[in-house]
Amino acid sequence: MLEAWKTTGGAASPISARLVRQRQSHLYRTRKVRQGPQDTTVTIDGKHCITFCSNDYLGLANDPALVTALQEGARRYGVGSGASHLVSGHSAVHHELETALAAFTGRSRALLFSSGYLANLGVISALVSPGDPVFEDRLNHASLIDAALLSRARLQRYRHGDPQALARRLEKLADKPALIASDGVFSMDGDLAPLPGLAALAREKDALLMIDDAHGLGVIGREGRGTLEYYNLGEDQAPVLMGTLGKAFGTFGAFVAGSDELIEYLIQFARTYIYTTALPPAIAHASLAALRLVRDGHERRERLHGLCRRFIEGAKQLGLPLATHLTGAGQAACVPIIPLILGDNQRTLAASKALEDRGILVTAIRPPTVPAGSARLRITLCANHTKTQVDQLLEALSSVI
Ligand SMILES: *Cc1c(COP(=O)(O)O)cnc(C)c1O
Repeated sequence: MLEAWKTTGGAASPISARLVRQRQSHLYRTRKVRQGPQDTTVTIDGKHCITFCSNDYLGLANDPALVTALQEGARRYGVGSGASHLVSGHSAVHHELETALAAFTGRSRALLFSSGYLANLGVISALVSPGDPVFEDRLNHASLIDAALLSRARLQRYRHGDPQALARRLEKLADKPALIASDGVFSMDGDLAPLPGLAALAREKDALLMIDDAHGLGVIGREGRGTLEYYNLGEDQAPVLMGTLGKAFGTFGAFVAGSDELIEYLIQFARTYIYTTALPPAIAHASLAALRLVRDGHERRERLHGLCRRFIEGAKQLGLPLATHLTGAGQAACVPIIPLILGDNQRTLAASKALEDRGILVTAIRPPTVPAGSARLRITLCANHTKTQVDQLLEALSSVI
């Protein structure tokens, strides 16, 4: 593409041509402009909608207590952190949040990163040398895949959710050190990774296991401690845990939790930790308040799980194209990510548009975010949705799909 900048441009340039192709394949991305806060109802492009596509699962993004905490944080610490953590940007409230996150996840220590994407890039490129084998679930989040590619690792993607497929690949490994990385909850499918199987293989092959629990933390497990709580796996079994604060926590940023040595190593060598400005301390202050709400959030989780069950039951009765792990017996854990797989890009876009005309916002998720031929409406629920809103969604879906 770069040569295009040197040519005269216009309709014939490779950049224009690629944009045209993107539109023709119904893959073109546009942004909707939201007025006001992220919430269960939003005003988008001037239109009032119920939204079912944020990752704000516990309804904290616009929680009054968090708004107050952010204001209070700004009064105490100002707005910007002014420098990276290693220079002069590491404030007492960052430190306090790290300690609280370590306690929450039951790990020795935690380290804040400015985003989950940066955390994955930083961890994997610090731990992996060029040519090292890295094994990833085929449906892992883009940031885990990119992290392995940027590390120039020998990336091998195994069949989704299949420890046997991983085992077959590991057999050829001999005694080489390796990293196995997986989402805890898959972001576009809402199913859980088979973590006990992955942990057993990691132990057997002496490989390092890293779990990205962006969608599990706050939501899964009795205490909201995520997929690892659900499977009862500790630091020994899954030594590297990455979590984000921009989803169920309702704020922004991310962290890595693990042993003291892991954290010290990342402070020295994770370039996306070292060479970037620390999160605004006021955000860290708000995240501390969010952590308390998450920890004490049994009622929110109960409400959310009730809404999930209601939606899935309704969708089954209507014969909507639920992902296979939700049909039949289904998985026991209740995940507020419920995809309706339509397959075709254009059809999915049209369904999303038809819902929007009925005042319901569900973004069409298309390749390359999901594999070709599996475009979907990715429905997410929030603890603050009402049963009536869920029923309205079901009714709209029944006439649109
Ligand atoms: C959202 C997400 C990330 C990235 O986190 P950000 O803080 O948004 O950069 C990483 N991994 C997974 C699985 C995610 O869903």
